Amino acid sequence: MPTKNHNGRCPTAGGARPQAWVARRLAFVVLPLCLGLTFWLPNIGGCQALNLPRDAAAAVVDDEVPKCPVQPPARAPSVVWQPETNSTWLDESAARLGAAVRIRTVSYDDMDLDPTREERFKPLVDFHAFLAETFPLFHSVANLTKVNTYGLLYEWTGSDPSLKPALYQGHQDVVPVPEDTVSRWSHEPFSGEYDRETGLVWGRGSSDDKNMLISIFEAFEQLQSEGFRPRRTILLSSGFDEEIGGQRGAGTLLVEMLRRYGNSGERGNGNSTTDKPLEFIIDEGGLGIGTTQQGRLDVALPAVGEKGYADMRIDIETEGGHSSIPPDHTAIGMLSEMLVDLEKNPFEPSLSTRNPVLTHLICLADALDEQELRGGGGADGDDQAETYEGFVLDRALRKQLRRPDQWPQAARRIAKDGTRTERFVIQTSQAIDVITGGVKANALPESASATINYRVSVDATVQQVVDKVEGLVARVARRHNLELSVDGPEKANSSDASEPARRDAPSEGKQASGGKVKLTVIQSTEPTPVSPVTSSQFGMLASTIRHVFPGRGQEGQNGADEKGKGNATGSDRIVTPGVMAGNTDLRRYSDLSTNIWRFHPNTFMMNSGKHTVDERMDIRAHAKTTRFIHALVRNTDGPI
Ligand SMILES: [Zn+2]
Repeated sequence: MPTKNHNGRCPTAGGARPQAWVARRLAFVVLPLCLGLTFWLPNIGGCQALNLPRDAAAAVVDDEVPKCPVQPPARAPSVVWQPETNSTWLDESAARLGAAVRIRTVSYDDMDLDPTREERFKPLVDFHAFLAETFPLFHSVANLTKVNTYGLLYEWTGSDPSLKPALYQGHQDVVPVPEDTVSRWSHEPFSGEYDRETGLVWGRGSSDDKNMLISIFEAFEQLQSEGFRPRRTILLSSGFDEEIGGQRGAGTLLVEMLRRYGNSGERGNGNSTTDKPLEFIIDEGGLGIGTTQQGRLDVALPAVGEKGYADMRIDIETEGGHSSIPPDHTAIGMLSEMLVDLEKNPFEPSLSTRNPVLTHLICLADALDEQELRGGGGADGDDQAETYEGFVLDRALRKQLRRPDQWPQAARRIAKDGTRTERFVIQTSQAIDVITGGVKANALPESASATINYRVSVDATVQQVVDKVEGLVARVARRHNLELSVDGPEKANSSDASEPARRDAPSEGKQASGGKVKLTVIQSTEPTPVSPVTSSQFGMLASTIRHVFPGRGQEGQNGADEKGKGNATGSDRIVTPGVMAGNTDLRRYSDLSTNIWRFHPNTFMMNSGKHTVDERMDIRAHAKTTRFIHALVRNTDGPI
C-alpha cells in the first residue's frame, strides 16, 4: 500500500558542502527541519543519528511555519550568452522550431503499447533525423541510445566521474488537433509558421513541448560550439508518449537510466545529500515566471512536486422491470443521490508543511511585508501595469499564514477567493466526468455508473480519497439497502482493505434486496515526493533563474556586467516553489533524483494555447529558455 514516504531524515547531510545561502540558514533551520519537515522531504540523507520515532516526527510536522528560502545572489555563468538579443539567431531558431512543429509526432489514446506495431509513431523517425541534422555538433559528442525504439537518451560524458549526472528532459509527442477545430486556428495547426512582426511561431507542439526540447538541443549545440567540455555528465532524455501516459517512453527510459546509473554507491563525491543517482532533473511544467500581487512582486515558480491521480467508478446494479410499476428510486436515482452527496462534500483545502505551496505563500507574505516596511508598493498595490489575476495576500491573511492554528481558515479563504489554479494546489479536486445508465424510456434501468477523476493533494494519499468516497457512497447505499463492495489496485494491495466495505454492508440476516453498488479504483498514482527547496541544488537553480530573469527592477543590467546594480543580490526575482495540479513524465522519476524540477520559464500570463486552438510560442521567450538552459549547464558544471 503506497503511503507517504518518510524516513526520519533531514536535508542537512553529513559531509555536505552547502552553498553560502544555505549555510546562513543552517543554524536556524537544522533542528526544525529534522523535526518538522521529514515528512515532506523524503529520502534525504543526514540526521539519522537523531533517530526520531516516526510518530514524533509526524506529530510536530504541522507546527513549524516554513521559512522562505533565502534568495541567493544571481549567478552569471562563466560565459554569458544572450540569444534573445540576436535577430539572426531568433530567425534561425524560429525556423528550427517551425520545422519541429511540421513533423506530426501526434499521440493518440488508442495507440499500441508496442511502438514497433504502431504505424502512427512513424513520424518520430523523421523527427530523429531532423534532430541529428539540425544539431550536428551535439550529436558528434553525445552518445545516443534509442530506448524502446523511439525514446531518446543522450549522454554527453563529463570528465569527472565523481560528479553525478544532470538530466534535461522534454517530450517529442504532441496532442492531436481535432478535425472540427481546424477552422478555428489562425494559422494551419501544423504549419510551424513564423510571424516575424509578432515574433510568434504557430502550431501544435510549439509551446508543449517541442520548444523545451529544441531549447535544450540549442543550448547544448551552443555549448559545444563554445568549446565547452563538461566535467559533470549531461543527460538528455526524451519520451514519445507523454501525452498518453508515458508508459512506453518515460517508463522505459527510467528503467534504462536506473540500469545504467542506478548503482551510484561508488559515484558519490562525499558531497551528496542522497544516494539517488542523478544530481538533478529538469523538465517541462510549473507556472514559469511572472508578476503577481497586483504587479508588486516578480516571481518564478518551479514546481517541486506533482499531485496524485485517481479514477474511480461507481456501478449500481438493480432489478429491471416495466416502468409502469417502478420502485421509489431507480439505479439512476440512487446513483444521482451519491453524486450529489459527493459534490456537496468536496475535499477540504489545506495548508501544511508537506505542501510547498505554504512556503510559496510565506515567501510572498515576507516580500510584501518588507515592501510595505520600506514604504514601497502601497497598501495593497496599485500598479496595474502587469496584473496577474490571482489572489492578493492582504495583511490579515499574511498574519494567518504565520499561525499554524489558523492555516485551516487561511486555506478556506484562498480556496474561496483565489483562482482555481491557486485553489487546486491546496485541495484534492473531484470531477464527475462520465455517466451512463438506462436504455429505454419505458424500462427500468438495470445498471447505472459514473466515473470520477481525482487529483490528490501532495499532502494527502490515494487511500484517503478512497476512504472518503467510500464513506459517502456507503451512506446512500445503507439508505437504499444496497450491498457495497470496493475493488481496485489500492484495495487489493491492502491487508485491511475490505474492512470499511464489510463495515458498511447490510448486517447479516438482513436482505440486501435493493441491489449492489460497487466502487472501483480504475487507476491511481500517489502524489510525488516533494523536492527540497533548502538544498544547494535548488539554490543553484534559483541563482540561475535570478540571473537570466532578474525582474523588472534589474532588467537590462545583467548583460556583460553581472555585478548587479541597485540591488545587492543582482535580482528582484523571488524564486519560490510550486506544485503541479497535472502530471508529467517526471512522476515516474522519483527514484532517479531528490531534486526534480518542473520549470519551463515562460511568463505565466502568456496564453500559449497548450492542448487547444492556436498553440503558439513567442520566439524571444523561447530564446530566454534556451539561454536559461545554457546558463544552468555552466553553473552546475562542478560540485554544487
Ligand atoms: Zn507537455
